[in-house]
Amino acid sequence: MSGFAAIKGVSKALQDKLAKLGIAEPDDLLLHLPLRYVDETRITPIRDLRTGEAAQVEGEIIHAETQYRPRKALICQLQDASGDLLHLRFLHFYPSQVAALKPGTHIRAYGEPRPGFFGMEIVHPQCRPVRDNAPLNEALTPVYPTTAGLTQPNLRKLVDSALQHGDMRETLPPEMLEQLQLPGFAESLLFLHRPPPDASLESLQTHAHAAWRRLAFDELLAQQLSMRRHHARRRSQGAPALADKKTLTHVLLERLPFRLTAAQQKTWREISRDMSQPYPMQRLLQGDVGSGKTIVAALAALQAIENGWQAAIMAPTEILAEQHYKKMTDWLAPLGLNIAWLSGAQSKSVRNAMLEQVASGEAPLVVGTHALFQEQVQFAKLGLAVIDEQHRFGVHQRLALRRKGEQPHQLMMSATPIPRTLAMSYYADLDVSVIDELPPGRTPVTTKIVSEERREEVLARVRDACSRGRQAYWVCPLIEESEALQLKTALETCEQLTAALPDLRIGLVHGRMKPAEKQMVMQAFSANEVQLLVATTVIEVGVDVPNASLMVIEHAERMGLSQLHQLRGRVGRGSAQSVCILLYASPLSQAARERLKIIYENTDGFEIARADLNLRGPGEFLGIRQSGVPLLKIADLERDADLLEAARNTAAILLRDHPQVAEAHLKRWMRRAEEYVKV
Ligand code: ADP
Ligand code: MG
Repeated sequence: MSGFAAIKGVSKALQDKLAKLGIAEPDDLLLHLPLRYVDETRITPIRDLRTGEAAQVEGEIIHAETQYRPRKALICQLQDASGDLLHLRFLHFYPSQVAALKPGTHIRAYGEPRPGFFGMEIVHPQCRPVRDNAPLNEALTPVYPTTAGLTQPNLRKLVDSALQHGDMRETLPPEMLEQLQLPGFAESLLFLHRPPPDASLESLQTHAHAAWRRLAFDELLAQQLSMRRHHARRRSQGAPALADKKTLTHVLLERLPFRLTAAQQKTWREISRDMSQPYPMQRLLQGDVGSGKTIVAALAALQAIENGWQAAIMAPTEILAEQHYKKMTDWLAPLGLNIAWLSGAQSKSVRNAMLEQVASGEAPLVVGTHALFQEQVQFAKLGLAVIDEQHRFGVHQRLALRRKGEQPHQLMMSATPIPRTLAMSYYADLDVSVIDELPPGRTPVTTKIVSEERREEVLARVRDACSRGRQAYWVCPLIEESEALQLKTALETCEQLTAALPDLRIGLVHGRMKPAEKQMVMQAFSANEVQLLVATTVIEVGVDVPNASLMVIEHAERMGLSQLHQLRGRVGRGSAQSVCILLYASPLSQAARERLKIIYENTDGFEIARADLNLRGPGEFLGIRQSGVPLLKIADLERDADLLEAARNTAAILLRDHPQVAEAHLKRWMRRAEEYVKV
């Protein structure tokens, strides 16, 4: 039962609203921190208002009218004691507001002034009627994240009660706080919820204040403790010890037309050793595009299979999953292994047959898209799960996957190195292997940066390459704002190219195609039935057609660095000299110029990823920002990188020397900690 049930005045309806905010217990209110603050401690004379600086003014409405052009608006004139005028403009308003703001009313209004048509104005100020000389607030007013039907005053009252009755005991030893130069827990909470009159708005808003840092630290510490606990729990949890029997793996290695690179051998040994342990592996295999991660995954799958267990390989797109399926079939079917294939595209009867093979164990290996883990796929004996291009799945899926009941050994693969801050936080429990060399015999790709004005020459190049038996990719401009427009552009590009290059067999793949259609085009391209493949960025990941030696990327200036690098990695996979042409439209922005320069000068994906991080910051990485639900609510990995470091050290010390402190700390933050690590 929720602790709120015992509190008078907290109805079931109110509890539901609080639950929406993640507040399940009265003490959760303590950690429900203000979004921002408003300064209602003073009145600013109208003549001192400054553009963009939020302020409170007080005066009398001397005129109010509803305008209809250019659009409907309620406009009030406010006059303060010195006789100056300010316009208040409301674009959405209710009749009740018109009544409350009628001439003669004395009000206080709060908002951000900006220059308007009639001089200074505030759009949508917060207004309230006041008596003359009504007392001002003594402190900054907190504004909390809230939900429909829960007002700020109500939330403030609830927080007040939590501040009086809640558990604000210190969890951390005083000497530790002193060393970290952080204030106490209770002190910090009081400060943030009820800032004293002299608190600076600036340091509260920017989270630079020590009180914010204390709470960010606490949150990061809880995350670290939780990650470590997860790591320890994983170790204590059983997983099948899959010994390196070398029965199947050696057969495959002997049959391969190539030798593993030293880096592949090293990472393979690390993975093989992990899998032979009686607790679940959680290892990330990092390696640049084309470094040969797939064969290492195949070997890992075989190690599971030679021990009588099943393996699953999951890829983020249909195209990529299909490629893996083909590769695994090439490599493993000759060993007498039956490989199941699961995709959203297949018919129900085929799918059911596949599911049956997976459930009965008849198929020791299954390849598919994420459908593989989401849906009701029953494995007879799953020993290893491989997740390719894992950064595509983002932190959320990674953590969701981990929640899935029994833990098989997990191998994740990625071409993108994890930024340091993320490696220290969300990925703190992962072991990492790196393939740091490319297979021999690759001819490095030559990159050319060409202005859109020289399109004719580029077309001639494509014609030439294809007439010599080579194949080419043409990547359509990326249009992030609209998928419909993206599709239209792809269709148009394909039409134009067909008109310009009538002798070539041209195919098109784009994101809106049905998986089966996509597969057909990709197969035709693999078989050289299609010579020029026009594509949207769906080909970004994992497509492998060694005969393709030319890539043209249109509007390369719009693309991100890692995207360009991944795209470029589609060529240079065979022995032919390969070229990647980055077409750009003038004028180039400074940022675009920088990006193109980096991609032109570098071929090493890790270098490029590092440069990318510098340009974009780690928050963009792994879809954290896009997901909309930041897992860390208070701390920010970029801003609080120093605290992250400190939290990591502190977690180690606490677990070693003060396990009961670690326990108390985790307990307080647990509901949130569970968000990061649903163990
Ligand atoms: P990625 O790491 O990008 O997933 P792949 O596994 O798709 O790379 O490998 C790219 C290509 O290199 C494939 O055609 C693969 O068969 C080939 N390959 C992998 N390892 C080697 C090797 N040691 N020597 C030669 N070719 C290799
Ligand atoms: Mg790959």
